[in-house]
Amino acid sequence: MPELQYKQPKSLLNKGTGFLNGYTYSLNPYGGCSFGCSFCYVRQMPIQLFRKQEWGTWIDVKQGAASLLKKELMKAKSKGPVTIFMSSSTDPYQPVEHKERLTRSLLEVMAEDEPDFLLVQTRSPLVTRDIDLLLQLKDKVRVSMTVETDREDIRRHFTPGAPPIGGRMQALQRLREAGVPTQATIAPVLPSSEQFPELLSKAVDRVCIDDYFMGDGSGGKRTARMGLKAKYEELQLLEWYEPSAYRMVYERLRAYFSATQIGISQEGFSRAFTE
Ligand code: SF4
Repeated sequence: MPELQYKQPKSLLNKGTGFLNGYTYSLNPYGGCSFGCSFCYVRQMPIQLFRKQEWGTWIDVKQGAASLLKKELMKAKSKGPVTIFMSSSTDPYQPVEHKERLTRSLLEVMAEDEPDFLLVQTRSPLVTRDIDLLLQLKDKVRVSMTVETDREDIRRHFTPGAPPIGGRMQALQRLREAGVPTQATIAPVLPSSEQFPELLSKAVDRVCIDDYFMGDGSGGKRTARMGLKAKYEELQLLEWYEPSAYRMVYERLRAYFSATQIGISQEGFSRAFTE
């Protein structure tokens, strides 16, 4: 269990910058992330660098977030279009969300006072709990479920604290059946089987794909500093730690998806891709 701290945030909506410059704001209901993925870039951001506890072992729960969002959203909407990426430095569906219902409280605010667009980025099937609220946002929302691979052994090697792949695929299917706009996000590209695209095609009609070289904001240097290469060496799968690996997965996807159904790197997370 991660160590929980309850904090009163001063603000919630942060300006969308860098990789997220297609969004006006990012929204993080929690600080920290108990999934603790080995490849997570947040490990190298100030929020973690100035913290003594290891990434994945702590969570800050933002108290009073719903009333704060209500005020900030109203103000932001008076200034212009509001497009929100939730979340950029945590997963909005932490295990503790089962009890805290913090992300749900933010969705309740947004269902009442809609932003122009909301992208919900998660690795957790818990998002299906909120189908009722997501449906209220109609086409102003999209759930982007990260599915880095179809291989559970690979998932356990790189991201043992995150939900199993089967549950994520089932969640995608449930969301689609319910009528919630969805996409699967292969980010970062991890070693996968040849059957992966076929599996995805049964659950989604859009796929976003990204890797360490396009998506870490530094041409792969940030990832290199985290020592990710060693994890591929252990598995004797070094060929997957190459820019060409994304290309191979892309070509495999093309047997099941048209070019317009596949968004690459930043474009795949953008609002334009979801329209
Ligand atoms: S789920 Fe996202 S924020 Fe959480 S550890 Fe993994 S990559 Fe980082």
